[in-house]
Amino acid sequence: SSGSDENDVVVVGGGPGGYVAAIKAAQLGLKTTCIEKRGALGGTCLNVGCIPSKALLHSSHMYHEALHSFANHGVKFPSVEVDLPAMMGQKDKAVANLTRGIEGLFKKNKVNYVKGYGKFISPSEVTVDGPEGGNTVVKGKNIIIATGSDVKFLPGITIDEKRIVSSTGALALTEIPKKLVVIGAGYIGLEMGSVWCRLGSEVTVVEFAPEIVPTMDGEVRKQFQRALEKQKMKFMLKTKVVSVDTSGDVVKLTLEPAAGGEQSTLEADVVLVSAGRIPFTAGLGLDKIGVETDKVGRITVNERFATNVPGVFAIGDVIPGPMLAHKAEEDGVACVEFIAGKEGHVDYDMVPGVVYTHPEVASVGKTEEQVKTLGVDYRVGKFPFMANSRAKAIDDAEGIVKIVAEKETDKILGVHIMAPNAGELIHEAVLALQYGASSEDIARTCHAHPTMSEALKEAAMATYDKPIHI
Ligand code: FAD
Repeated sequence: SSGSDENDVVVVGGGPGGYVAAIKAAQLGLKTTCIEKRGALGGTCLNVGCIPSKALLHSSHMYHEALHSFANHGVKFPSVEVDLPAMMGQKDKAVANLTRGIEGLFKKNKVNYVKGYGKFISPSEVTVDGPEGGNTVVKGKNIIIATGSDVKFLPGITIDEKRIVSSTGALALTEIPKKLVVIGAGYIGLEMGSVWCRLGSEVTVVEFAPEIVPTMDGEVRKQFQRALEKQKMKFMLKTKVVSVDTSGDVVKLTLEPAAGGEQSTLEADVVLVSAGRIPFTAGLGLDKIGVETDKVGRITVNERFATNVPGVFAIGDVIPGPMLAHKAEEDGVACVEFIAGKEGHVDYDMVPGVVYTHPEVASVGKTEEQVKTLGVDYRVGKFPFMANSRAKAIDDAEGIVKIVAEKETDKILGVHIMAPNAGELIHEAVLALQYGASSEDIARTCHAHPTMSEALKEAAMATYDKPIHI
């Protein structure tokens, strides 16, 4: 195999971090090999993460709309039903097309793709156990670790991916559970909870912390939780799962207040464990070459993505920073630019975060709570979608834009949006932050009418002056 020739760059892992790094490296003229064990490119994100979850969120939203909203818009059906195999089929097709697309991009850019499990034998050599037995040694002047993350297991709860599932099982249930219990109110739990809630499951989210999605701006979070509760999602916060009993027909969970106290029980047909993700470096042989990791197993890197071992780099979910696909991609590009002798830069304060429920919640920069903690004098500008003409026209007006700006300079510090399409709306704010814009800069920028984006302009007006439409 051509894998035995020396490469300029070897990437271990073909997720959004790894495959993007590999393509970028090849584009910069570096001889590049990417090693992936899964049998398909795209990593967690494409195979069992971002993409299949968004497919199911969209399909389940369509069903929910057909059931609850279409009639209000004068669109009537005699009856509406879910064809779960067809829904799963559309998701699988989307995933298969996209993963094959990356293989195509590898060919186009001349990235050598080696299938199998990679393991360091020296800082410049990785042996790959191929899927059909046998192994190849892949050599590289530079090796990038992009092995991503895995589900964080909870002690005493065994995931069988049927009744006790991780997000992977929750993306492939063959029946709509009557009762679904979600352990963990992070974005993955809420997205998957939303899918099954819309399809008819009774969903209860159990969370140890006093609030859902802890990174979210507090005010937006409260409105968000209310929106989900209106959709009949139930929340048990400050609650600990003590044990899960799968011996009977239904799963029995024993719960306890986080602070300790009287126990209670909860029944479920399916339990989703979504209590976070941990860096994945099993079997990689990091100890063999002496790559340092931190207390939680993340690989330690400097601002150039270099580990403590010369020639070995790491990017994406396996290093500190937001565990998000677009962050992994940014890491990948910057890391390869450094390797190629150029400059690269990723500012983790400018990485947007999106929860793809309905409404979506998207944010960039600092929350009001964070700004307060920093002791910065600030102003807040808000605008509700109830006062946005496009949102009213389409009868989908639940949500808000909130801008936090420095008082003295009006520089925008954070933007938080809850809206049906918040994940698309946020990028104007990301660009504004990236360019150090003021709220007045956004307010004085012409926004097309009627669009949801006008709510951002109005919130900006509300930050340094007054909005027009409320
Ligand atoms: P990964 O995508 O985990 O890829 C690592 C790859 O390396 C894997 O394919 C693995 O098989 C391979 N690998 C590991 N070890 C080896 C080895 N030794 N040899 C060969 N190959 C190896 N993020 C978002 O930004 N937006 C979302 O909407 C979103 N939704 C998500 C929904 C779910 C249900 C989940 C679970 C995650 C979601 N994420 C989302 C997070 C996103 O998937 C990750 O942040 C992203 O995939 C990280 O990219 P990565 O390249 O670092 O790692």
